Amino acid sequence: MRPPVLFPLFAAVTSLPGIGPRIGPLIEKVAGPKLVDLLWHLPTGIIDRRYSPKIMEAEPGRIATMVVRIDSHVPPPNRRLPYKVRCSDETGFLHLVYFHANADYLKRILPPGETRVVSGRVDHFNNEVQITHPEHVGTLEELETLRAVEPVYPLTAGLPPKTLAKAIRGALDQAPDLDEWVDAATAKRQGWPAWRAALRLVHAPQTPEDLAPTTPSRRRLAYDELLASQLALTLVRGQERKLKGRAIKGDGRLRAKALAALPFSLTNSQKTAVEEILADMAGEHRMIRLLQGDVGSGKTVVACLAMLNAVEAGGQAALMAPTEILARQHAETIAPLAEAAGVRMALLTGRDKGAGRRALLADLASGEIGIAVGTHALVQEDVTFKDLMLAVVDEQHRFGVHQRVSLSEKGRRADMLVMTATPIPRTLLLAVYGDLDVSKLTEKPAGRQPIDTRIISLERLDETIDGLRRAIAQGAQAFWVCPLVEESDEVDLAAATERYEHLRKLFGDRVGLVHGRLKAAEKDAVMADFAARKLDILVATTVIEVGVDVPSATIMAIEHAERFGLAQLHQLRGRVGRGAARSTCLLLYAPPLGDTAKARLAIMRDTEDGFRIAEEDLRLRGGGEILGTRQSGMPEFRLADLAAHGDLLESARADVRLILAQDAELEGPRGRALRLLLYLFERDAAVRLLRSA
Ligand code: ADP
Ligand code: MG
Repeated sequence: MRPPVLFPLFAAVTSLPGIGPRIGPLIEKVAGPKLVDLLWHLPTGIIDRRYSPKIMEAEPGRIATMVVRIDSHVPPPNRRLPYKVRCSDETGFLHLVYFHANADYLKRILPPGETRVVSGRVDHFNNEVQITHPEHVGTLEELETLRAVEPVYPLTAGLPPKTLAKAIRGALDQAPDLDEWVDAATAKRQGWPAWRAALRLVHAPQTPEDLAPTTPSRRRLAYDELLASQLALTLVRGQERKLKGRAIKGDGRLRAKALAALPFSLTNSQKTAVEEILADMAGEHRMIRLLQGDVGSGKTVVACLAMLNAVEAGGQAALMAPTEILARQHAETIAPLAEAAGVRMALLTGRDKGAGRRALLADLASGEIGIAVGTHALVQEDVTFKDLMLAVVDEQHRFGVHQRVSLSEKGRRADMLVMTATPIPRTLLLAVYGDLDVSKLTEKPAGRQPIDTRIISLERLDETIDGLRRAIAQGAQAFWVCPLVEESDEVDLAAATERYEHLRKLFGDRVGLVHGRLKAAEKDAVMADFAARKLDILVATTVIEVGVDVPSATIMAIEHAERFGLAQLHQLRGRVGRGAARSTCLLLYAPPLGDTAKARLAIMRDTEDGFRIAEEDLRLRGGGEILGTRQSGMPEFRLADLAAHGDLLESARADVRLILAQDAELEGPRGRALRLLLYLFERDAAVRLLRSA
């Protein structure tokens, strides 16, 4: 249960005065639904209203706060012209300019003959000094409050800046003093203010430097968030570890048969990964290991050997993939190996229904089937195993922590292997998984050729298409990926459809289209046509990102490459270069490109090393972008920026170890404060793992 001291912060934003059903949803969109979300909505700029010159000294273009006498109101001769209010001081005249004015209102706030403070951007127009739509108008008593520095917050259409700022001030007023959860020595060494003081400071920047992620207040809040996340991860992980595992130790006889049937030999990193996994499975504890490797690095084979180990030990193994296409592909890789080993493998997807499915489930329950490959269909309630010893989850780049756990729950303390194709820098690994054992596939299988990556302006689209035509004439096949626009399927689809129509005019019916709205069977049919070379060009939204294998495709064109995350580009590029032929990746961008965008595309051109790309991406853009999109399930930090606060993640992790070593149940004074912290960052589930929660 959330502690009462935090209740006010978890009230809806609409509980604030002046925030009703119209503004509420806008605030929710930009910050979140609760007051606490407003606290985390940090300013990204400032407006300095301290400049207060006389009228004739006011520099055009600057924001000025001036004391003026209101002389007269000048209504416009017609509605297209603005309403003007003429003001003056001892140096000259100032006109306040209002379009679509409400005259009564203006007369009320700017009564002729009175003195007022006005603040806004100064303009010179037709030899007149003007302020168009002053942001603030007030009485002389308000001068000091108006002559201030205002924070500027990220907004959304229709949300007035003043309203948002007021709501944030309202939320800040509700922030209570909380017991300190940061270790006193750390806070002192870093020069950090207390939580509430830090919040007030970050929301009251006085200079542009105050907006930097490196200020003590920003670092402190970032640390709070990282500490909460590390603590929660460690508690969950501790829970997982408490579950004792089983020593799973096969005799190698099935693995030997599978290896003999492989048409290639394992790369050194595959061998090492298999050894690490087998050693981990043989231990008494429960294995929770991440297998990282680029697309095409050969993770499936490694997983297959681990699964055969479980079968040798008398158990079963399951591999779950995020999509049906991927599940099928895994099944195709595994089937010949399982067959060589004499192990029955079955594929289970959402498409299996009725009697066929029942028979399959019966064979899983009886242990007849040794290896199950499938989609989420594997974790449906009526799926049971005789003895699931190893659960493998291929997450590609989606982190489905929830499903991860549910598959392993089908077994008794089953070991778990999580595969990911996203090269995750160490900092991010910590942030996503906490402490986790990792095996890495760092080499590509032999015989792969490097991919020739080119950066091309969309202005040269016609030439590019001509080049494509020549390549196709020589037997090449191409993917053409259209970008994610905003977060809307519909818009994405429109862009892809338009390109499809365009290419179809040029290439006829040897162009196919696949996108997220197609039914699984339709998608598979188009993919199958492409794989069978019935199509030369496959236009796609990013659905193909998740792992299709068409070795004959050698061209990957990515439109608006600048809109993709680097990890995503890397994944997409990994779709080609899988066969023996030389492949090309065309990164088509819409000019002009900013410096960061240029640098990012240049990295893509210069390297194929996913780990390097990920590190560079982290450096250039910060953590959220690494995995491309929001759907990645990456924890989105509100206050921490992993590019700037990576050091804090390390110390949060060290701190968490120390805390839990001293007070595992968080019952001491600092432990209690840390519980508050977990609630503050909505890690309630982690608190529930504690005794006397
Ligand atoms: P990943 O799952 O890491 O994307 P896969 O396991 O699907 O990669 O492997 C990609 C392709 O490479 C498959 O066709 C697989 O049979 C092949 N492959 C795997 N390991 C090797 C190897 N050591 N040498 C040559 N080819 C390999
Ligand atoms: Mg694979």
